[in-house]
Amino acid sequence: MRIILLGPPGAGKGTQSKRLVERHGVVQLSTGDMLRAAVAAGTPIGLEAKDIMARGQLVPDEIVVAIVADRIEEPDCARGFILDGFPRTVAQAEALDAMLLEKNLSLDVVIELKVDEVALLARVENRIAESGGEVRADDNAEALAKRLEVYRSQTAPLVEYYAETGQLVSIDGMQPIEAVAAEIDKVIKASAEA
Ligand code: ADP
Repeated sequence: MRIILLGPPGAGKGTQSKRLVERHGVVQLSTGDMLRAAVAAGTPIGLEAKDIMARGQLVPDEIVVAIVADRIEEPDCARGFILDGFPRTVAQAEALDAMLLEKNLSLDVVIELKVDEVALLARVENRIAESGGEVRADDNAEALAKRLEVYRSQTAPLVEYYAETGQLVSIDGMQPIEAVAAEIDKVIKASAEA
């Protein structure tokens, strides 16, 4: 199973990915998590990404594309993967297509989690409140507004991109977690049978 979860910050991609990992034994490839790990470890990539991420902007395509290209070569990706937070630009989507083509692989489905922006702000504020002080550098009102703006301008065009390839399925992400999960399972099942 190879799927992309697409949606704005706070849409629930991480929550749903973790659940899919438990249920289907595939790996979650979160470029956000990978970049945060690089920042924490102080690697050259981390040093370059740190301030960009804290501002809510996008790390350059060539960096994230290289990270993902390396990661999907790892043996644990052979059974499939969930891409969470990648691709985020049309250039990244094109790079991913090229990577998969080269490996003779294809995506099963691209699942868009649709949510409304007012609810997103509330969710992220909740995440900040519940974190007990340990907040992500980009979980503040200013960076979140930037992340939403970046999503609208750079990432939302991927909805059209994958609609054109016929790989897109959109789900109402405003439902309770379990209901969203049930719909995702249905979509995955249907794509496996197709
Ligand atoms: P979100 O909560 O917005 O979904 P993520 O944890 O996926 O956030 O990513 C956090 C930050 O990491 C992004 O705002 C961006 O700076 C950087 N990042 C993550 N994935 C990518 C990507 N595919 N391309 C560029 N930057 C990325």
